[in-house]
Amino acid sequence: TMAHAEALLVLENFIAGKFVPCSSYIDSYNPSTGDVYCRVPDSGKEEVEAAVKAAKAAFPIWSSKSPLERSQILNKLADLIEHDLEAFAQAESKDQGKTITFARTVDIPRAVYNFRFFASSILHHTTECTEMASVGCVHYTSRAPVGVAGLISPWNLPLYLLTWKIAPAIACGNTVVAKPSEMTSVTAWMMCKLLEKAGVPHGVVNVVFGTGAKAGEALVCHPDVPLISFTGSTLTAQRITEKSAPHCKRLSLELGGKNPAIVFDDADLSQCIPTTLRSSFANQGEICLCTSRIFVQRGIYSEFLKRFVAEAKKWKVGNPSDPTVDVGALISKEHLEKVRSYVKKAQAEGARVLCGEGVDSLALPTGNQKGYFMLPTVIAEVKDESSCMQEEIFGPVTCVVAFDTEDEVIERANDVKYGLAATVWSSNVGRVHRVARRLQSGLVWTNCWLIRDLNLPFGGMKASGIGREGAKDSYEFFTEVKTITIKH
Ligand code: NAD
Repeated sequence: TMAHAEALLVLENFIAGKFVPCSSYIDSYNPSTGDVYCRVPDSGKEEVEAAVKAAKAAFPIWSSKSPLERSQILNKLADLIEHDLEAFAQAESKDQGKTITFARTVDIPRAVYNFRFFASSILHHTTECTEMASVGCVHYTSRAPVGVAGLISPWNLPLYLLTWKIAPAIACGNTVVAKPSEMTSVTAWMMCKLLEKAGVPHGVVNVVFGTGAKAGEALVCHPDVPLISFTGSTLTAQRITEKSAPHCKRLSLELGGKNPAIVFDDADLSQCIPTTLRSSFANQGEICLCTSRIFVQRGIYSEFLKRFVAEAKKWKVGNPSDPTVDVGALISKEHLEKVRSYVKKAQAEGARVLCGEGVDSLALPTGNQKGYFMLPTVIAEVKDESSCMQEEIFGPVTCVVAFDTEDEVIERANDVKYGLAATVWSSNVGRVHRVARRLQSGLVWTNCWLIRDLNLPFGGMKASGIGREGAKDSYEFFTEVKTITIKH
């Protein structure tokens, strides 16, 4: 086969500034062809131990550098990644299945920006000071990095989400041991090659590759790792919480979503429809912020549905390296089957599949016949209590249902275990504010989607997470605060 014709890419762990081979490896697939093309270290306790030791040894020097010195190094790293943007984008697309266009315009530019952003924000924090003149005291707070941070990231936005953790962690003066998803490890490995040139001292950033059960859990259970920043599924977060409880670790948990879009009858559909298509299907629907429940007010329901389905059918599915393709491959065969099973379940329950899976045929280029592709799928008449409306599907599937009143839709939108992101479409300013306040959701976008100011908190409520990340929030998470009182 083609895979055998090309030499396999073999990754190595990055510990104490050096690439080190591992004794066993995991196969990594190219989702758009179904071929094994890369081998990822299958690290365990031993590798994690070495990485934590290196991070611990690097901590005293790194943490005593000035924010400005660290900022300059982060900026240099941003420049180096940006210089190789095309190579990173190609690698991310091949490894993850996402389109080259998405990797070029979203993933890698954002990874670059994560370093630039925290390189800047770290220079601008101030601490608090209060005076108690009656007893002759001043109080002030002092913040210090915590130590070795354990960072665990998922496969959907690999370098984007990993750097969203590495950048603030090291900007604050911590050293890190990162464990990317075993399914998408390549761009993290490429980034390691740039660290020395950027001036990141050995041991400040260590990357250990491997599975969650082995490498991830060894990191979570390591007594010398006092904080864990995790992005991934709610189920894994529960396991991490249990495993870290005996150590009283500080946790930041960014988890799944079941995000509603609420479309009122005064919405500007010329904006709402294209944006809701993107919010449903961008990155194959594999973004934690993707819309998967669309509530449309009854008066415009049939018009919305007609236009939405007509536009969804125009999304081109195919080879991710083709710049005209809108939908690439899903991450794995197992994940594709899981996403498909939700569509079957909905059909069995009497819902109508209006386009996509099982309805339209998918013609794939010859080289992609064994890839994990699926058409954007729109389902209508799904019951609120059905699993398609309750569980995170994390694929190119979205459900459209009708509603009548504002109170009703808020209640239905909130009636899931998750609370990550919501979108509200209306031209009535008063309604937008009212609804936004009442939604149980860490993020509410009105008349837009995915526009982020990294200064502001990011994170979810309920089963979507604990804690927030952002300029000030990440600074607080990655530092320990102390209150000092001086009597004069
Ligand atoms: P996952 O939970 O399976 O894996 C995430 C990471 O955790 C991987 O690196 C994995 O190897 C590791 N892991 C797995 N088991 C572990 C364990 N027992 N101990 C330590 N580490 C372990 O999630 P996934 O399938 O890679 O990612 C998809 C999920 O991530 C979706 O639920 C999605 O909504 C969520 N997500 C959330 C956000 C957010 O910011 N809220 C962003 C992106 C993705």
